Amino acid sequence: MKKLILILCVLQMNLSAAQNIYLHCGQLIDTEKGVVLTKKTVIVSGEKIKAIKNGFVVPENPKDVLVDLKSKTVMPGLIDMHVHMENEYNPARYMDQFTANEADVAFKSVNYAEITLLAGFTTVRDLGGTGVNIALRNAINNNTIVGPRIFTAGKAIATTGGHADPTNGRNKLLMGDPGPEQGVINSPDEARKAVRQRYKNGADNIKITATGGVLSVAKNGQNPQFTIEEVKAICATAKDYGMIIAAHAHGDEGMQRAVIGGVTTIEHGTKMSTKTMDLMKQYGTYFVPTITAGKAVAENAKIEGFYPEIIVPKALEIGPKIQSTFAKAYKRGVPIAFGTDAGVFPHGLNAKEFGYMVEVGMPEMEAIQSATITNAKVLGLADQLGQIKTDYIADIVATDSNPIDDISAMERIDFVMKAGKIYKK
Ligand SMILES: [Zn+2]
Repeated sequence: MKKLILILCVLQMNLSAAQNIYLHCGQLIDTEKGVVLTKKTVIVSGEKIKAIKNGFVVPENPKDVLVDLKSKTVMPGLIDMHVHMENEYNPARYMDQFTANEADVAFKSVNYAEITLLAGFTTVRDLGGTGVNIALRNAINNNTIVGPRIFTAGKAIATTGGHADPTNGRNKLLMGDPGPEQGVINSPDEARKAVRQRYKNGADNIKITATGGVLSVAKNGQNPQFTIEEVKAICATAKDYGMIIAAHAHGDEGMQRAVIGGVTTIEHGTKMSTKTMDLMKQYGTYFVPTITAGKAVAENAKIEGFYPEIIVPKALEIGPKIQSTFAKAYKRGVPIAFGTDAGVFPHGLNAKEFGYMVEVGMPEMEAIQSATITNAKVLGLADQLGQIKTDYIADIVATDSNPIDDISAMERIDFVMKAGKIYKK
């Protein structure tokens, strides 16, 4: 009995000695109500937010840490719904597929992950790579390396010759005939198998390439590439495993099949018709715009030799259209989930997307909400992420000036906390 009391006393001492972090926030964005609060203290204990108090509360315990963010605007950690943590486009990229080993990809991705976190993105959805992204997620979760919380699709699912067929553009010897294991399907049965294989590999969610794309070595950038039966088989199977489904789509027909088939998000959405916008509202499908990537590919395409020749006309046509599609979709009431396609442009520049959204009519607060509370909801984590609220995970970032007055402040994040740990101050 004495021993037990002693153990309890030691436990009690440890608890009272536990270090809390007090954040004195000059301004605090309430993403739920869409308002900016002033003079608040956020108390963080372990990985979670313990309390939010009015005014600047001084810590009682000398071991507690006080962080002065009185001159900052504080908000929940940002969430990007569309990144590729494994790579960053450059003219050597197409050759890299033949020369780089998985370890080469892995070492580069470690750097990209850290850059992304320090830009204020504490959570990302990785929409496709070789599968190194699964190991990257695990290494971050194990605290082996520093990076955002990753929810990854592993390798995207395509059809033969489709946007994410890994052997596009190769000679016959190297082309082969990849199947469901490599994420290439040609029937509802194969579709189900590919989803189950992704689950087995450790993916968190599913990505399909519903239409042609800009950066694949293939002629068409927008044709439909799945039958509706295949999309339905993918979505139904993914839902069995608790996975959400992202559909890359530029052309309207493939986009409609994806929406009707049951995907969670439409990525890019370049040639989205008003009919598709209305379908998305009806089905509750979110639009992930990736305007930054559209602008980047259009710019890069003007540099001779940056992309293989077959890509250039697609990049010039599709890239510049995404921002105006976003403007129309937003005005029509399509739900918007913030996402950038980082990796198509340099990692860490994700916050440029805010400026592009605001430029064509989305209010600053709504742009910030799309990257926080909305994305947390899309990920099924609305009760843990996307808000600064008691018992939520302590993902907290701050800008040097108020982004509601000047949205470019989002590109200047100078405080980053993820799960209660400070990474940038
Ligand atoms: Zn992408």
